[in-house]
Amino acid sequence: MTTAATRLPRVDRGSSPQVVRTRAELRALLAAAPRPLGLVPTMGWLHAGHASLIRRARDESATVVVTIFVNPRQFGEAADYTRYPRNEARDLEMCGAEGADIVFAPPAEEVYPPGYDTTVHVGAIAEPLEGAARPGHFDGVATVVAILFSLVRAERAYFGQKDAQQVLVVRRMATDLALGTEVAACPIVREPDGLALSSRNVHLSAAERAAAPVLHRALAAGAALHGAGERDATALRDEIRRVLAAEPLARVEYVSCADAATLEELRTVDRPALLSLAARFGATRLIDNQPLG
Ligand code: AMP
Repeated sequence: MTTAATRLPRVDRGSSPQVVRTRAELRALLAAAPRPLGLVPTMGWLHAGHASLIRRARDESATVVVTIFVNPRQFGEAADYTRYPRNEARDLEMCGAEGADIVFAPPAEEVYPPGYDTTVHVGAIAEPLEGAARPGHFDGVATVVAILFSLVRAERAYFGQKDAQQVLVVRRMATDLALGTEVAACPIVREPDGLALSSRNVHLSAAERAAAPVLHRALAAGAALHGAGERDATALRDEIRRVLAAEPLARVEYVSCADAATLEELRTVDRPALLSLAARFGATRLIDNQPLG
C-alpha cells in the first residue's frame, strides 16, 4: 500500500502536494525524494510573490518543498502575530498550482519541541535597518530558517529580494553554520501600481492602499537621481524622503542608502548599493527596496 509517507513526490504541476505536519513524516518523504531539492520557506497567505519563488524552485529542482509556518519567534508585537493572515486551504491550492511536491505545515511544537532552548543570532548584517527597528526579529528568522534548513537539507532555498536584509542574514547564517543549502534571491513581485506584494497589504484600508505605492515611487525617484549621476548618498535619501513627505498617510521609519553587501550606510555611492525604507500606514508596517548598480 502507498502511504502519504512513502509515496514518491510528484513532478507535474496542478495537482495537490503532499501535506506533512511532523518532522518524522517529512523525513520519511524526503528520504525517497529525487534531488536536487528546492525549499521555499513561507509564512502562508501566499500571493504572486511566493508563487514566483515556487516557480523558480520548480524550474531548478526535481523536488520542491514549501514550508508554511507563521513563526512566533520573529514577531516583536504579539498583536502582529495574532493578526497575521492565515488561509491554509487557499495556500495549498496555490502550492499545487505552482507545482510544489511537498508542503510542510507544522504546528509550533513540531518546530520548537518541548524543552527547545536554542537561538541562532547573526551578527553585524542583522543589526541595522529591520534589525534595529524590530529587536529580536532576525534572531527569530535565523533560528527558524536554521531548523528548516536542517530538516529539509535542500540543495537550494529560495527567498524574495523584497526582504533584502533577510536574504543577507540567512545567507550568512547558512554559510557560517555550514548547513549546505545555497540561498537564492528572487526579484520583487509588484502590483501594477508598484506596491510590492506582501501578506500585510490585506490590512490596508482603501485610503492606505491608495497611498502605499508612494514607497515604490520614492525609491524609483532615488534610483532615477542615481541614474542621472548623483553619487551623494544623502542627496538620494533626501530625494526619497521628499517624495514620501508628499503622502500624509505614510509615517516613515527609516530611509537608507547602504552598501548592498554589508548594509552600512554610505556617504558616496561608489559601489553596489541598496536603497531601502520602512513606513507605517495606520497599523500596517511596510518595507520596500531598490538595488543600485
Ligand atoms: P513571508 O511569507 O512573508 O515570510 O515570505 C516568504 C518569502 O516570500 C520570503 O522569502 C519573502 O521575501 C518572499 N516574498 C514576499 N513578498 C514578495 C514579493 N512581493 N516578491 C518576491 N518575493 C516575496
